[in-house]
This record gives sequence, C-alpha cells and structure tokens, in this order.
Amino acid sequence: MIGLLLFLSCNTEPVIHQAIVVEKEILQINEHEPYKAGILRRGPLKQGYWDRPPDVRVCATAPISQRRVEKGLDFWRKLGYSFGTVTYNDTTRHCVEDIFSYGTIIIDLIDGTHREPAVATTTTWIDSDTREILKAKIVMKSRWANVERVLEHEFGHAFGFKDYNREGHIMHHNWGLAGRNTRGLVKPE
Ligand SMILES: [Zn+2]
Repeated sequence: MIGLLLFLSCNTEPVIHQAIVVEKEILQINEHEPYKAGILRRGPLKQGYWDRPPDVRVCATAPISQRRVEKGLDFWRKLGYSFGTVTYNDTTRHCVEDIFSYGTIIIDLIDGTHREPAVATTTTWIDSDTREILKAKIVMKSRWANVERVLEHEFGHAFGFKDYNREGHIMHHNWGLAGRNTRGLVKPE
C-alpha cells in the first residue's frame, strides 16, 4: 500500500501527499484523424488488438435494430473475428454512466464522442505500450444506424483498423465511395 503513495514537496507549499494511480497512457483514436498514407498498402493499418473477444453492449438508446447488429457481427465473424457476450437493449451502467467498460464494444446513439459531420463515430482506447484494445465505443446517428455498411465500417475501427480510402473497400472513409471489399481485414491464423 505504501508503494502507491508518493510524498511531494514544493518550494513554498506545505508538503502534500498524493495517491498515485497506476495508469498507463491510453491513446484515444478517433476515426476522423487525417489518414492519407494508406493508399499503397494492401489493406488498412491495424493499430491495436483485443486480448480476448470483446463483449458487445447495444444500449437501449442505440438507434439500431438487433437484426442489423447481428448482420454486422456476422460480417466480422466471417473474417475470423469473435465476440464475447452480446447484450441487446442494455440499460446497465455501461450504457448509462461514464464508466470505463474494459473489454467491451459499446453501441449507442451519438453523444459527446461524436464528431460531425460523420454519420457514426468510433472511439477506440488502446494501450500505447502493449497495443491492447481496452474498449471501443460506436455512436450512431438515428438516420444512418441501420444503413448498409455503416456498422460494419465502425466495427472495423473497433477492431483497431484505420480508414483505408480505396474505392469499394468497407473501410473507406466516405460512405458513398465505400463498398463491401474486405482486403487486408481477414484475421491471420
Ligand atoms: Zn472510418
């Protein structure tokens, strides 16, 4: 216990003691980071990896149907990815409070993590040392949530992939130029 306490002193201030929380730096990667260098690559850059299959929590307030989510999950399962427990209509604290839901992909209506003018935004928290993905949050606009390829694209970000602006690719940043091409996404054995 004593190891967690650090006593700091400043020149003019009285000595204070401060509890140090051991916390690794986390990169918060937003899908709207400019990304231009990827065109010549054979697929999207991958920035992080889940340690174990992530749970998925679809919040009760998420503007997307269960059927639509199931389609998105199947899209990625076919590419070799797995999911843990999938919860629909979630009203637990993971959806209601701003807690750090480790190991989880949360799907909800747009909130403070959303970046206009996107139709949906995924924020992925990645441990900068280990590249482990700790959490991802997908927020969607009502009018777009059930539109084809939108959730599939956002799941790509939740799996650590960046945008890949090759026409017809699922990870193209521009929905109108994207398609169902999955080059570079298949999970290696
Ligand atoms: Zn994107």
